[in-house]
Amino acid sequence: MDAITFAVLTISDSCYEEPAKDRSGPRLVTLIGESFDNADVIASVLPDERDLIQRELRKWIDRGDVHIILTTGGTGFAPRDVTPEATRPLIDRECNQLTLAIAMASLQKTKFAALSRGICGIAGNTLILNFPGSEKAVIECFEVVRDLLPHAVHLMRNNLRLVQRTHAALQQTNQPEQRQHHRHVCPHKTGAGNDTDRNSPYPMLPVQQALDTILSIVQRLNYKDVQQLEALVSPVNIPPFRASIKDGYAMKSTGFSGTKRVLGCIAAGDKIVEHHLQEDECFKINTGAPLPLHADCVVQVEDTKLLQRDKYGDESLVDILVEPKAGQDVRPVGHDLARGERVFPAYDASPVVSNSLLASVGSQLSQRKPTVTIISTGSELLAPNQPAADGKIYDSNTTMLEELLAYFGFDCLQHRVLSDDLDNIEQTLSELFKTADFIICSGGVSMGDKDFIKPALQALNFKLHFGRVNMKPGKPMTFASKDCKYFFGLPGNPVSAFVTFHLFALPAIRWAAGWPRAKCSLPVINVTLLNDAIDLDGRPEYVRAAVSSIKGQLHASVNGDQISSRLQSIVGADVLIHLPGRTADKTQARSGDVYSASVLRYDFISKYE
Ligand code: AMP
Ligand code: MG
Repeated sequence: MDAITFAVLTISDSCYEEPAKDRSGPRLVTLIGESFDNADVIASVLPDERDLIQRELRKWIDRGDVHIILTTGGTGFAPRDVTPEATRPLIDRECNQLTLAIAMASLQKTKFAALSRGICGIAGNTLILNFPGSEKAVIECFEVVRDLLPHAVHLMRNNLRLVQRTHAALQQTNQPEQRQHHRHVCPHKTGAGNDTDRNSPYPMLPVQQALDTILSIVQRLNYKDVQQLEALVSPVNIPPFRASIKDGYAMKSTGFSGTKRVLGCIAAGDKIVEHHLQEDECFKINTGAPLPLHADCVVQVEDTKLLQRDKYGDESLVDILVEPKAGQDVRPVGHDLARGERVFPAYDASPVVSNSLLASVGSQLSQRKPTVTIISTGSELLAPNQPAADGKIYDSNTTMLEELLAYFGFDCLQHRVLSDDLDNIEQTLSELFKTADFIICSGGVSMGDKDFIKPALQALNFKLHFGRVNMKPGKPMTFASKDCKYFFGLPGNPVSAFVTFHLFALPAIRWAAGWPRAKCSLPVINVTLLNDAIDLDGRPEYVRAAVSSIKGQLHASVNGDQISSRLQSIVGADVLIHLPGRTADKTQARSGDVYSASVLRYDFISKYE
């Protein structure tokens, strides 16, 4: 079995103050060590402070390699017990049955278990379980979940080999009563994909699980750069001198309003004037210029009146109409950013933000961007500049994927168009992965006998993490990896490639580039549907639609025929509406229904009414 990484978090004000008091955290660490040969454990102690707890949990979740977090403490009714409240907002998928299993077992021991409010859920690729704080309760709760944890981890990480092994073990159990008890009804049933069973051998993953799998596998290439950026302190003060905020007159605030002699004019870029100033003297000064050494305020030009110019036409006498106040319209040294202060209070992946802030402190840390190569497969493909030919179609995916990468700020290292030839695909992949971190490929991942992508990846010893996703369009979406090389096999139909690029390839590249997880996927908004009676598909569907802002509310209308070959449906598409899969209760989407929608472009409102 692969190693499982646990994190144990003791949450208790008193243990935080006196770590020797903590018995439950160390007990959990011991139990984990005794139960699993291959467990890594990290542990930490925090007070009952919601923000601190959340920050620690988030840090572990974002690491991507922590499989299970066990918290102990803070689940009761005391005012400072906030562990469930700190955990809940981080959870993507609740695990109510796990919570229930713990509660039921604990209630058999003591009715006081009813006073524990702990929850369980999945955040990213990490399972979080809140245990109560007492050592006895921790032992009992751990006992309940111990055997479930490895299988839960394999399911979460989509480790098919180990999932199947567990299923086999469970189904081979000999005692009939035990067999009945353990019977595991499996939503990920597959076929053999051969002549006798023509179903795909790949389990069909829910979209969220497919994305979670990708993000748990893809390494953050820029992690060091991100940490360096986060730790960067400013080598300079901004501003480096006391700077005038206004165009006006610099003077001593101890003087009064009234007539003052103008000694000269200080422009932005001038050196600091060291001349001694009398209270009835001033300098004319421009915005951003350094204050004279002996001045302490600026009176804006609008609050003055010019009384006299000298023979050269320069101002010589000015009437100050307001009382000058110390510090008025002056930016002190380091006001915007002080030397030694962190440049980035939080990491921001936007190059606009990072590069301009770096420029503002005179630095130029460079971040390595993931290298991406695009492949289109299909013996039918013609380059757009070739003459039309029998049986051939023009290749739109290569252009579309290149443009999408450019739109989202990533470079395309190179592109190749390959015919459906297994040896050639295998060789080319091997060659291209010498320089690319990511290959985004379209076509060749379905059930046809010329779909050679999966066999080629297998021949190259890539691990196929999934080969089908429960979505429309895009069902044959495939993801594979080997070491730090990642392969996205998008289906060839242009709209399938378009949708799966946005939902899977883009978040992965952003994640590798160091983006925070919540920002890797497209932003999601709510839209009110304008079309009436759209038949829902059995699979969740990602529908291209245009957004109108009607009296400030966002509405969406579907862009015509949604067949996955019809690239025209992306014309004017602002969003992908997430239509849910059909159920017995709901078979149609109707006008006025509100759905989530992924925003495809920055300029995502087509019409204002
Ligand atoms: P495949 O995923 O290879 O089975 O292809 C599915 C459909 O998408 C077929 O009709 C292909 O002709 C079409 N297709 C595949 N690749 C491209 C491409 N690069 N540009 C346009 N259509 C494509
Ligand atoms: Mg093909």
